[in-house]
Amino acid sequence: MGFFDKIKKGLEKTKNAIASKFKELFKRSELDDDFYDELEYILISSDIGAMTTADIIDELKVKAKKEKIKESEKAKNLLKQILVEKLTIEDPKPVYPLSYLIIGVNGVGKTTTIGKLSNYFKKQKKDVILAAGDTFRAAASDQLNEWANRSKVKIIKHTEGADPASVVYDAVESMKAKKADVLLIDTAGRLHNKVNLMEELKKISKIVMNKYAECNYQKLLVLDATTGQNAVSQVELFNEAVGIDGIILTKLDGTSKGGIIIPIISSLQVPVKFVGVGEGIDDLIEFNPVDYVNALFE
Ligand code: GDP
Repeated sequence: MGFFDKIKKGLEKTKNAIASKFKELFKRSELDDDFYDELEYILISSDIGAMTTADIIDELKVKAKKEKIKESEKAKNLLKQILVEKLTIEDPKPVYPLSYLIIGVNGVGKTTTIGKLSNYFKKQKKDVILAAGDTFRAAASDQLNEWANRSKVKIIKHTEGADPASVVYDAVESMKAKKADVLLIDTAGRLHNKVNLMEELKKISKIVMNKYAECNYQKLLVLDATTGQNAVSQVELFNEAVGIDGIILTKLDGTSKGGIIIPIISSLQVPVKFVGVGEGIDDLIEFNPVDYVNALFE
């Protein structure tokens, strides 16, 4: 399956929820108040958020006036263009050696995403190492180990309850010694309390930066698309603690509110690097604004 087919499949629930409404909307003959009211309703119901929706509608009104567009069918292309612009933010291509610190609350899909990422980088002939930094949860490193076996990549793990910082220390040593291309670091989603977790993540970050300054180090937050607007507050929380370089949005296939990606990018100005569209090893795709918007409107 190609990228576009995958994002289309991943957005099926969202599309089913809004497709018929969009169809009715763009059948209208005029861009009047009713048209904009209905559009507002559709955007908000797919979790685009009140503020971002208001922005989009204001822009559409201004552009439609400027380009003298009066029919709703033509407004559709304009709307697509505005959405693509909102979703496009600068995100340079990865430079190797590369290390991703994978963070996020429990159950969002961190471990699964690391499994998918190891497969993604292996396919590009990159040498990958995993670090089992979630030593808090008994099953976490076993689960990561299974993914390492499936993608045939090396894993550094210690016993349960070990210091995550020491796992990462060893993993970075190993990465340098082997001149590996990619290090993927799993972390706990919950410790005894929030402060504890954030301190732990800061400590891990310092180790990677101090021990391997030449490494392109990025902190990626994993968010579950089915949690809706709550995802936005998770971005703020983790961003304040460690600073986030990008987002991986999982379970897009499990929600009818796939519009959530728009306020995440446009109001928080953090790039979405990948989206998860299923539980399989290949169900991870690089996020592409044009494909995403086209899939929504197909
Ligand atoms: P962690 O606690 O953050 O490490 O989360 P896990 O990796 O253990 O994932 C939690 C659950 O979410 C598992 O059942 C995964 O199979 C599921 N999951 C992860 N990513 C996706 C996705 O993109 N789509 C779907 N449908 N399920 C996913």
